[in-house]
Amino acid sequence: MNKGVLYVFSAPSGCGKGTVLTELRKRMPELKYSVSATTRAPRDGEVDGVHYYFVTRERFDELVKTGGMLEHATFCGNSYGTPKEKVFECLDNGIDVILEIETKGAMMVKESYPEAVMIFMLPPSIGELRRRLENRHSETEEVINGRVKEAAREIAVAENYDYVFVNDDVSEAVETLYRIMTVSKNLVKINQDLIKGVLDKC
Ligand code: 5GP
Repeated sequence: MNKGVLYVFSAPSGCGKGTVLTELRKRMPELKYSVSATTRAPRDGEVDGVHYYFVTRERFDELVKTGGMLEHATFCGNSYGTPKEKVFECLDNGIDVILEIETKGAMMVKESYPEAVMIFMLPPSIGELRRRLENRHSETEEVINGRVKEAAREIAVAENYDYVFVNDDVSEAVETLYRIMTVSKNLVKINQDLIKGVLDKC
């Protein structure tokens, strides 16, 4: 059985990641979305175990200390991390997994699991990103300023990814992401066994 593909998907906060991924889920229902752990408080409508595992600082630090996290990072004062076990269980069973994570954690995954397919979604501009964050009405001005600053830092890291595209229009962005995920199945870095298998048959 072929191993599943690990996709790492990053985009600055407010870029429309959630909307794009909700639409992608309809196109790729078999794809597994990793649920992260975070010390951030839930926003309205967020459900524990669905959107995140909302954990205490103590529990989060314990998960990191005991090697339970594939990656983790601090973002705007809160900690976020990917519980490792379920991700590898899926990949080993041939199930593709997507991680929706910020860039520091993404670089940790790239380092420890180079076969990961790294995808970055850009906003049309920083000004548009700020407008989207303000329209969400869920954060204070101070938090929004922090997230905009963080966005500029994250965009500078995009050059380390395999694929990049702009979210100008949701349906176009979903289509692009779907095409990237489909074509990346043929990347050399995730097909080493295929090449070796054919050579072995000589
Ligand atoms: P939010 O607070 O808006 O839900 O997420 C803030 C940022 O943390 C987003 O860029 C999101 O992609 C990122 N994030 C969510 N889960 C994880 C995770 O498990 N690891 C890392 N490194 N970042 C995460």
